Amino acid sequence: MVRSLTLAGMLVGSFALAGEGKWTPQQVLQQGPAWVKQQGFGLPLGKLWDEKGGGGGLLANAVQLPGCSGSFVSKDGLLITNHHCIVSILQEHSSPAQNLVKDGYLAKTAADEKGSKSFRIQVPRRFLDVTKDVLDDLPPSPDALGRYKSVEATSKKLVARCEQTPNTRCTFAAFDGGLFFTLTEFTELTDVRLVYAPPGAVGDFGGEIDNWTWPRHSGDFALVRAYQDGKPYQPKYYFPVSKDGVKENDAVAVLGYPGVSFRAQLADEMAERQDRWFPALRALTAEWQAILEDESRKSPDAAIATADDQRSLLNARKNSEGQLAGLARGRLVEKQRATEEKVKAFIGQKPEHAKALLAYAALQQVLVDRLQTWDRDFLLDLTSRGSRALGWPLLLARRSVEAQRPDAEREPGYQDRDLARLRERHERDQKRYFAGVDQRVFASWVKRALALPKDQRIAAVDATFGALKDDAAIARKCAELAAASRVLDLETRKKMFEETPEQLRARKDPLLDLGLAVDTERRALRDRRDVLSGRVLEFRPVWRRAVIAEAGKPVAPDANSTLRVTFGRIKGYSPREAVVMTPHTTLAGAMAKHTGEEPFDVPQKIRDAYARGKAGQVPVDFLADCDTTGGNSGSPVIDGKGRLVGVNFDRVWENVANDFGYNPEVARNVSADVRYLLWLLTEVDAAPGLVAELTERK
Ligand code: ASP
Repeated sequence: MVRSLTLAGMLVGSFALAGEGKWTPQQVLQQGPAWVKQQGFGLPLGKLWDEKGGGGGLLANAVQLPGCSGSFVSKDGLLITNHHCIVSILQEHSSPAQNLVKDGYLAKTAADEKGSKSFRIQVPRRFLDVTKDVLDDLPPSPDALGRYKSVEATSKKLVARCEQTPNTRCTFAAFDGGLFFTLTEFTELTDVRLVYAPPGAVGDFGGEIDNWTWPRHSGDFALVRAYQDGKPYQPKYYFPVSKDGVKENDAVAVLGYPGVSFRAQLADEMAERQDRWFPALRALTAEWQAILEDESRKSPDAAIATADDQRSLLNARKNSEGQLAGLARGRLVEKQRATEEKVKAFIGQKPEHAKALLAYAALQQVLVDRLQTWDRDFLLDLTSRGSRALGWPLLLARRSVEAQRPDAEREPGYQDRDLARLRERHERDQKRYFAGVDQRVFASWVKRALALPKDQRIAAVDATFGALKDDAAIARKCAELAAASRVLDLETRKKMFEETPEQLRARKDPLLDLGLAVDTERRALRDRRDVLSGRVLEFRPVWRRAVIAEAGKPVAPDANSTLRVTFGRIKGYSPREAVVMTPHTTLAGAMAKHTGEEPFDVPQKIRDAYARGKAGQVPVDFLADCDTTGGNSGSPVIDGKGRLVGVNFDRVWENVANDFGYNPEVARNVSADVRYLLWLLTEVDAAPGLVAELTERK
């Protein structure tokens, strides 16, 4: 039985200070009105989060976007998020003659708003604790695979039931490896149209040089409008937009869907991130990004096709560097080890937690097992992020194999509920494909696969490429395969998507054949992982319960793409000795950075407006000590009165590794000030209707 979230199993404890904690809405209620007030929020708890209605109130105006967050800011479905969260819509409508990524866009009337073929958003409607359902469904004494499969089956069952309501999308989530489980029910909106995006030189001002740093001068915001049945969507709640701004020490909260963090991991698991994952990711993203950049220099079409990929590769590379720098500087693995020692000593005194020591050892063994085939698994995991000549056949192969099974037995992501999404992606992905770029990325992946240690070979790659002598021969072979394949042709690929494995095989298409063979290895990897995940589901909760008991206060679970709120204050920081950063920037700072060349090229229109008046005073970005991570992009930043003051878009360099631990000294998130948006719409783009819509609610 599904029941409304209760506070069962959570600790009521002493007040935590603002800053640390990506709290679930239930944890906010649990900590109570006095705690919330202490965070600077005068609103009654019920207004913040209405548990009786199954979840509602102001926190439920955090809308989930693909990889990002956003919020409604008008009664007519106007939604604010980051510029970098809607690049795919800009790209969909761009050509070398009209480049929206570069020039931005303003819809003067509703008829000018530009739709997207694949941009969906999810508005939360109900939140349920389903831990009991998961536990009730477990067979007696399951083995690891049995446990994993049982949880997966429960999740599918709950999701299927929940999605019987039309226009509904439901998400099942495990917290800290299975400490508790939730189901979130969303209204899914598929008609989302672009209203306003600033030019790239504003939305991405400072580019990769400024990314993950402070001081920042980027107007990383955009407006889209959601429609339902052809009419503007009427949200249950929308934020008033504040023209008052925030000053140092003012309270703010960030609401959104942080993706993933690693604070609940063991020190040894963190060490795997530090020693293997981030260095490997850094090297790979650097190599692929260099290819994209090189080809983009030669062709404007390549530049448009790869704009979003370039950005995400650059972002991932710099993020990896930041994580590595932060892990080393903060000695985060060592700190986690010290915490573990304290927890072990605590367990020694508490017989009721005795099993946690066994659980700890079992989790360490899972890691040892994972490391056996680490290099190969890393490459197999990254097939969907690189070359399409490799990624598309793999998608087709997996889809056709999964389609042979009854819906409820298919791998998540390939069930009937996922097909519309997958089909929508054909066209969007085609726009991101550029042959010259793709073949080089394909060859890069193949070379890495050929360099794997002897006991971790990918047989399908060896069979196709193993005999080739040098890089030039590999590149030639990749080009040959692409030329002989029909997978890269959009219309043919759409047909292939509906075919059985036999039909795909009968095509004798070389890329499809490679895809089917590599997919077999990826499925074997998935099967091994299911067993490991079953072990984690058994042991992580046992260990975490001891960790939380030792902490003696509420502990926020790791980010898992579910709704969280984090409270903080507007605050500067000191990145190193003798350097003090203040928390606000203005347009004057952007002008001081202006060189006329990317990425520091303030558009002429803005320079003119700046020259005309007091634009130097225009606030641009601000810092706070909220606890955010990737996925929090576009999250509404609200003041103590519940008014929108900005949109979150980044963290400072010293805080990238906060995924492994919160350090109040340097934990700073970066937000774009909504007054910059209002100024642009008033002084630069003359969009009074939009400004009125944004500011109608006081
Ligand atoms: N830039 C990030 C995002 O895109 C936000 C962050 O990692 O702090 O979600």
